[in-house]
Amino acid sequence: MTQHSLDDYLAYVDRVWQGQDTLLAHLSGAYTGDTLARIGERTGFLPAFANVAVFDTGSDGLVLVDSGDIRTAGQLHTAVTAFGAATDSAPRKEVRSIVYTHGHVDHVFGVGPFDEDARARGVAAPEVVAHEAVAARFDRYTETAGYNSWINRRQFGVPALNWPTRYRYPDTTYRDRLTLRYGDLTFELFHARGETDDATYVWIPELKTLCTGDLFIWNSPNAGNPQKVQRYPEDWARALRAMAELGAEVLLPGHGVPIVGAPRIAQALGDSAELLESLCTQTRELMNAGLRLDEVLHGVKVPAELLAKPYLHPAYDEPEFVVRNLWRLWGGWYDQNPAHLKPAPEAELAAELAEAAGGAVVLARRAADLLGRGELRLAAHLAETAALAAPQDREVARVRAEVYAKRAAAESSTMAQGVFRWAAAESAAVVEGSDLTTELTRSEGGRRRAAGAISVGVVADEDGCACGSAADSGTAPEAVR
Ligand SMILES: [Zn+2]
Repeated sequence: MTQHSLDDYLAYVDRVWQGQDTLLAHLSGAYTGDTLARIGERTGFLPAFANVAVFDTGSDGLVLVDSGDIRTAGQLHTAVTAFGAATDSAPRKEVRSIVYTHGHVDHVFGVGPFDEDARARGVAAPEVVAHEAVAARFDRYTETAGYNSWINRRQFGVPALNWPTRYRYPDTTYRDRLTLRYGDLTFELFHARGETDDATYVWIPELKTLCTGDLFIWNSPNAGNPQKVQRYPEDWARALRAMAELGAEVLLPGHGVPIVGAPRIAQALGDSAELLESLCTQTRELMNAGLRLDEVLHGVKVPAELLAKPYLHPAYDEPEFVVRNLWRLWGGWYDQNPAHLKPAPEAELAAELAEAAGGAVVLARRAADLLGRGELRLAAHLAETAALAAPQDREVARVRAEVYAKRAAAESSTMAQGVFRWAAAESAAVVEGSDLTTELTRSEGGRRRAAGAISVGVVADEDGCACGSAADSGTAPEAVR
């Protein structure tokens, strides 16, 4: 991707809002470089897969909100150093503080070069400020690095991904609210649970600027995420409403492009809150009516007009997963199907079902029929059962590979696509007598993903959905949420 001129960045941002352009250029790094985009006189912005906002406090150095991922750490340091460079009348502006909006690895791996630079020059290192739960997250990430490696390999299609085990912990933490004052600027830090339990949004009243972190990401909220820890959709909606009350004129999000103008910001935050509120209300009503998870899941109606907004496109996460997350948050893991309370091993059950049907191949053929009729969900159940009953059967594997390849192509979210593509590759490896990595990387898109091009919903990827907004990005596997 060629580098685009930062002078054009705000014009591009405006086109994205109008629906005349997509997030592809932003997320793929076309505006990421060795200088910052100027959002205002005091505000610099690193437009990247994971954004960083930089504030010139006047007499007291620079403050960063977030630090980006490992891929952009060098560029961020270069760009911030240029932003704060000495002039005829003023010395170089040091980075005084870096606020983590949360502890996800795409937001906290840009501090290293600033620490090293400060050490080399004998000046104070930046003070890293975050919510108090960030440290526990880093501890958990280290303790569950194996699990996190596997689920992120599957989610993003990166078989060589290794989850990091060394983190830059915060120097200062807070619980509910913290005010930082540097130079002419005030940084009001508010804690809210949403995508994470450790989220902070930052309000700078003098600049009427709001840094949302991942509480706003130009995507349907990441409040479902099947393979990751609890999310908090209702708290998230409340935080969106509270942020809307601030009257911001500039919104700098964790991912995706800035939003400029109070009416647009109010609309984007309000629509996002409304989507989550609708999912919460419906899920709670169905749970209170005593329904099983299955009935709740298929009973909640997703507000299609909201999902159609360019900033709510389900390119990364999706509403169906949010319903499951609410079930887990408000209920328990038991889905109210008594057979699932203390189930038989699933391979034994599959063998019984295959025997009853007349063989695993019979089940697989029925799956192929269902696939042909467009019954993708049902086809997956039958193909999965057949493969559990006969894991090395090549005819069964061929059907399972086809079913999941079609399912991946029919999905809009990275999370669904990642799981289905991985399953398709597993079975293709059985058919071909090859291995998973070979099968994952047969297509051009697969090779780009495996090389670390983290997908968050792809525009016209040859084997992805071509459903409009959002993008594919970058080069390194560490940039995962
Ligand atoms: Zn993020």
